[in-house]
Amino acid sequence: MNGKVYGFPIIIFSEFYIMKYLIFFLATLPLLAQKKMKPEMTEVWEPVPAMVDPGNSSTPPSDAIVLFDGTDLSQWMSAAKGGNAEWILNGDGSMTVKRGSGIETKKEFGSVQLHIEWKTPSEVKGKGQGRGNSGVFFQKVYEVQVLDSYNNVTYSNGQAASIYKQSIPLVNASRPPGVWQTYDIIFNEPKYDSEGNRLKKGSLTVFHNGVLVQNNVEIQGTSQYIGLPRLRDIETPKKIFLQDHGNPVSYRNIWLRKI
Ligand code: MG
Repeated sequence: MNGKVYGFPIIIFSEFYIMKYLIFFLATLPLLAQKKMKPEMTEVWEPVPAMVDPGNSSTPPSDAIVLFDGTDLSQWMSAAKGGNAEWILNGDGSMTVKRGSGIETKKEFGSVQLHIEWKTPSEVKGKGQGRGNSGVFFQKVYEVQVLDSYNNVTYSNGQAASIYKQSIPLVNASRPPGVWQTYDIIFNEPKYDSEGNRLKKGSLTVFHNGVLVQNNVEIQGTSQYIGLPRLRDIETPKKIFLQDHGNPVSYRNIWLRKI
């Protein structure tokens, strides 16, 4: 009886040590295996990424879809009337908003990398949301705000490079009015089923003049001037839309790459 009483803890004690060494041994196995590996065993040679000419700061990469190179508006149409896009071609590679209608691409796009350059009027007029307002909309409903936010106070989630009324930019990287600015945007589209139920939210990453201002931000829903974001209507065409907000904002060098 006494022997069992004293022997029991000893058995536990030794088993504990056996287990301990066993666990240590098992834990070192991957390291031993790693030592036996050769460099070649973790090299992946296929697929080979396609060769792309990246262009320079003013020309698109060779695999980009050019939406506007300054010569014509053939990729665009009037969003309100459905006919020709009527924005003004300036003859210097840029176009300017003509009051009356925004413009949208003729084609639809899913997830994309978009490059776009914009300039608010050098003659400063108005304030807040009334100064140099336009917007880059993905799938017609998700707006990255275009606004003269250089010394121009407005609500932070509505300033330049905000995801309108959803996400404040990390910093204000605005250039002065009348100076060209760039957006480089990664848009991952949300996923919907055929009944209009959202399966997965989309996201936006935005560089404003090369500065990260939206870091993989989840899109809550459509950009609403009034009220909360909504689910997108799956009947809405997935076009890029540029907003006419009554201000003569200019654009140039617009291209995208499908993701
Ligand atoms: Mg806007």
